[in-house]
Amino acid sequence: MQPIMNTYGRLAATFTHGKGAYVYDTDNRAFLDALSGIAVCGLGHGHPAITQAICEQAGNLVHTSNLYGIGRQQELAEKLTAISGMDNVFFSNSGAEANEAAIKIARKFGHNKGVDLPTILVMENAFHGRTMATLTATANKAAQAGFGPLLDGFERINFNDLDAAKQAFEHNPNIVAVLVEPVQGEGGVTCATDEFMNGLRTLCTANDALLMLDEIQTGNGRTGEYFAFQHFDWHPDVLTTAKGLGNGVPIGACLAKGKAAEVLQPGSHGSTYGGNPLACAAGCAVIDTITQENICKRVTELGERIRQKLQQHLDQTGYVKEYRGKGLMIGVVLNTEENAAGIMKSALEAGLLLNVTAGNVVRLLPPFVITDEEADLIAEKTAEQITAYFAVQK
Ligand SMILES: *Cc1c(COP(=O)(O)O)cnc(C)c1O
Repeated sequence: MQPIMNTYGRLAATFTHGKGAYVYDTDNRAFLDALSGIAVCGLGHGHPAITQAICEQAGNLVHTSNLYGIGRQQELAEKLTAISGMDNVFFSNSGAEANEAAIKIARKFGHNKGVDLPTILVMENAFHGRTMATLTATANKAAQAGFGPLLDGFERINFNDLDAAKQAFEHNPNIVAVLVEPVQGEGGVTCATDEFMNGLRTLCTANDALLMLDEIQTGNGRTGEYFAFQHFDWHPDVLTTAKGLGNGVPIGACLAKGKAAEVLQPGSHGSTYGGNPLACAAGCAVIDTITQENICKRVTELGERIRQKLQQHLDQTGYVKEYRGKGLMIGVVLNTEENAAGIMKSALEAGLLLNVTAGNVVRLLPPFVITDEEADLIAEKTAEQITAYFAVQK
């Protein structure tokens, strides 16, 4: 029996160290990382400012619990609220836990105004995590299979279907919140349309419901703004983030604004580790680095560059149905109904880390610190793998 529980289908590589956009395996072979640990290491591997912050904090104080004040947590909360315009923040240790906090805020918000069966509107193809509540909110039947009973209090509509959202509010007076990803990551790198996002904001305001954005993947610079909602001219009521916030140190955050910011009170929610000094020191260094180095603008440039290069390599081939995404969240939708997950393995063998999601979408989530040359190399190697895949299919 293997000592690690069998929950992951792993590829045959084990990495020991990394620098910038490269990681190195046990044989010291270099791999170009176009995945960033699934949108986590936005600042790449071994970033000096993040390493220094973690090391310094580890030497001073790692953990004391939320029974006492935590200076680093205060500091990170100030940075996060300043950069987002949200009012306050609850810290967790992961994305799913940040969404759990959001779901609890929505339910309590509902009960506070006399809704006994508060319901959260969620989307087809959504991914929100794997705890019981977030698994219920997630749209993946395979991920849910065998774990019933799921939770009550969720209603699902098609992503980008504003009419369906309107109808849901009309027929169901129990809807207290909408939970949505600005760009669906796991679901296939699909962007919410401007019409859908703006429409949901209007609908939530009109119906006294909370607009809750899952920015666990889109946050922390990934789409070319610090948060993806900043491509619009309004604020959500609740926003969750995680992944890129710690650049690899586990941390999650649930931010709230206005009436949503006053729902949780002492005793209503908590976490032993959440917002501990070590995780918050990493978070502070991430925000400082992203803002001081104007990285969001660079993310937009790099995203456009990689997309253009991919098009140069692939446009004549007919292998690509569509390019999707925003900033350095890039989805290449392949012109096949077959599952193309094999590209992950062939790319790995060729020294490139990438991902395939939703069956036929090659997903690139490169670190923001790549050079132009590394961006071009990612596009070139990705195109090579796609070309090789279709050559074998024929
Ligand atoms: C990764 C992800 C989650 C879950 O985060 P975990 O840290 O794995 O719990 C939730 N929502 C979205 C959009 C994600 O990309």
